[in-house]
Amino acid sequence: PAPSADEVLARAEEERVEFVSLQFTDIMGIVKNVVIPVEVFPHVIEEGQWFDGSSIEGFARIAESDMYLMPDLSTFAVIPWERGTGTTARVICWVYNPNGDLFPGDPRVVLLRQLERAAKLGFVYNTGPELEFFLFRRENGRIAPLPHDQGSYFDLTTDLAASVRKDMIRALEAFGIKVEAGHHEVAVGQHEIDFEYADALTTADNAITFKYTLKAVAQQHDLHATFMPKPIQGINGSGMHTHQSLAWLESGANAFVDTSDPYGLSELAKRFIAGQLYHARGMCAVLAPLVNSYKRLVPGYEAPVYISWARQNRSALIRVPAVRAGRLQATRIELRCPDPSANPYLAYAVMLAAGLDGIERELPLPEPIEENVYHFTEEDLRRRNVGVLPSTLGEAIAELERDEVVREALGEHVFERLVEAQKRDWDAFRQYVTPWELDRYLEIY
Ligand code: GLN
Ligand code: MG
Ligand code: MG
Ligand code: MG
Repeated sequence: PAPSADEVLARAEEERVEFVSLQFTDIMGIVKNVVIPVEVFPHVIEEGQWFDGSSIEGFARIAESDMYLMPDLSTFAVIPWERGTGTTARVICWVYNPNGDLFPGDPRVVLLRQLERAAKLGFVYNTGPELEFFLFRRENGRIAPLPHDQGSYFDLTTDLAASVRKDMIRALEAFGIKVEAGHHEVAVGQHEIDFEYADALTTADNAITFKYTLKAVAQQHDLHATFMPKPIQGINGSGMHTHQSLAWLESGANAFVDTSDPYGLSELAKRFIAGQLYHARGMCAVLAPLVNSYKRLVPGYEAPVYISWARQNRSALIRVPAVRAGRLQATRIELRCPDPSANPYLAYAVMLAAGLDGIERELPLPEPIEENVYHFTEEDLRRRNVGVLPSTLGEAIAELERDEVVREALGEHVFERLVEAQKRDWDAFRQYVTPWELDRYLEIY
């Protein structure tokens, strides 16, 4: 339950808050904010804060630019590194049209609509993202890998990165995000920090907060944290694998559990998986939104390429993690194609819509594939009827345009602006003559 205005204002006074940062995201998931002195906060809680939406990526055109922000008081938190002088708190806001309707171009509103749809069917949608990132240092203004970091998965390193990671965890905890674990990832310079599983709106808010918190902490060490999906060729990219389950709204019990099934999955869970497999190609432009995202989705780097599901196989698109005996509430499925450049609100909205479509249309679940699909030949793929994820952003955009369920989940407003922004990027990239081409062709031809 959200705290009352009085409770939040009392907390602001207790914590000696001087400024409040009113936050929301654009369609690409970039955080926008307007800062107000704490004295006007009571007024903003009542009346909202007006702003010009026309300059925000994917928001309004000039003619429809007036909008206002209404604080979601449950997200009030002091920004840990802005304590002391000019103590600032942030509060995430809902975006409204002048007529008092929630603005359909606000990504958080897009997710809210799908959560409301799930609630009508009796479900709460829970998610837990695993955000991976690289830590780089700045060298003469350019970004370069960290020296001395030769670490890999779960390595115990005592270098700078290990202590930076602890600072990051402290900052996240101070922000109210409960961290479960942090570790070195597979690639050199790559790390992961995981936080608590919760309802999708909370974890999407947390994923946004997570990204700028890590960037801020890295900056304090003169480092740069990046969530770019594939910053370095030849080693693993960064994913945002997302664990998901539905719980019954009434009882809170996990609706994905069935102990009599060999995979421990209920019929409902199977339909949900089937829906996500069915819409995998259509969702891809939302879950892996950048030109660069498709350099990650290639064989050999623990990122998915083929549309399959399995229990343990890490080349599968959807994995069913093992749960400890007696801990069946933890039953969940892990979708592995999202990367951390995705806007988590839009990502969860389309993932939920895809899963619910599987449930509503009772889509059949294909057989699991427990072998390493990276080794499959074209012939194997055809024979086992295994689809392939889009291999470029251009292909992903075309698939998104064709997928009615995903389009509807985004809503016309966000769909049109997202595709417009992505096409701009894709066209620019398509026309760019790369160093690779010059190396490869300039002399020979
Ligand atoms: N970095 C891999 C990816 O891109 C995942 C590696 C892992 O978590 N085991 O998805
Ligand atoms: Mg992990
Ligand atoms: Mg990982
Ligand atoms: Mg994982």
